[in-house]
Amino acid sequence: MIELKNLTVSYGALRAVDGVSLTVGTGDILSLLGPSGCGKSSLLRGVVGLEPSTGEILVNGVPVAGVAVHQRRIGMVFQDAQLFTHRTVAGNIAYGLKGESREEIARRVGEMLELVGLAGMGERSVTTLSGGQAQRVALARSLAPRPDVLLLDEPLSALDRVLRERLSQDLRAILKGAGATAIYVTHDHDEAFTVADRVGIMDDGRLLQIGTPEELIHSHTTEVTDFLGSTTIVEGRVTEPSEARTRVALPAEIEIPGTVTGDTVRLRITPLGVIGADLDDR
Ligand code: ADP
Ligand code: MG
Repeated sequence: MIELKNLTVSYGALRAVDGVSLTVGTGDILSLLGPSGCGKSSLLRGVVGLEPSTGEILVNGVPVAGVAVHQRRIGMVFQDAQLFTHRTVAGNIAYGLKGESREEIARRVGEMLELVGLAGMGERSVTTLSGGQAQRVALARSLAPRPDVLLLDEPLSALDRVLRERLSQDLRAILKGAGATAIYVTHDHDEAFTVADRVGIMDDGRLLQIGTPEELIHSHTTEVTDFLGSTTIVEGRVTEPSEARTRVALPAEIEIPGTVTGDTVRLRITPLGVIGADLDDR
């Protein structure tokens, strides 16, 4: 479990992270979603100890303030895999396992290769890997020493769209398979909602709202709905198929949650249902 209490990271007069408080339970994945420059990386850097911060950081109930970076048992995965190019795949994954017996290292490396879907590739040179494979190795390397918390800073953003979609699903399965407690930072809505159990919306150094995807989609906070936008997916009934054009009937009358007092309502059509976007203005 990790708890942040009023975490603040400043660069001179700029408060890049401005009093963020949140809790991630053991084995849970929290995504922090926000536009570029809102302070996501600064927050992670503060948590891991690469940037000075004020406020409290507790890992499994214990404050980490006085603990050196490499002793915090907090793993980190970056946008570029940052692998050690002179080591093999297995050599990279074994990096954080110094001090373990040779047998234990081999066992754990094998287990991690399996988990990230690279079984049998341990002896490969990392310079021969695709971008997606390299990120899998980076993930395996950071999970191998069983960190108390794993921080991921836009780990898929350097990959192309198709790969990103597939890998974000795999990533969730990998993190869950490892039982990791994770904070996953991204500016991509789809990725945040695919990977996480809960999503926190960040803007301008502050945490605007935090909740399950379901809770956020139904949020009535204008700031949050504006930021999330809407995804228009609606199911229609084909009434008149033809070669060039097809007539489709949409539901003429629908129900939305909440009360609307006026005669008209703007609807947000999301994958989770239709929501009245004006409900907060009533
Ligand atoms: P994000 O990861 O969400 O894109 P960052 O945490 O990188 O945001 O940046 C948050 C703010 O802090 C931005 O205004 C950025 O310009 C500023 N910033 C980031 N790193 C530094 C630094 N080392 N020195 C000064 N300002 C910084
Ligand atoms: Mg960043």
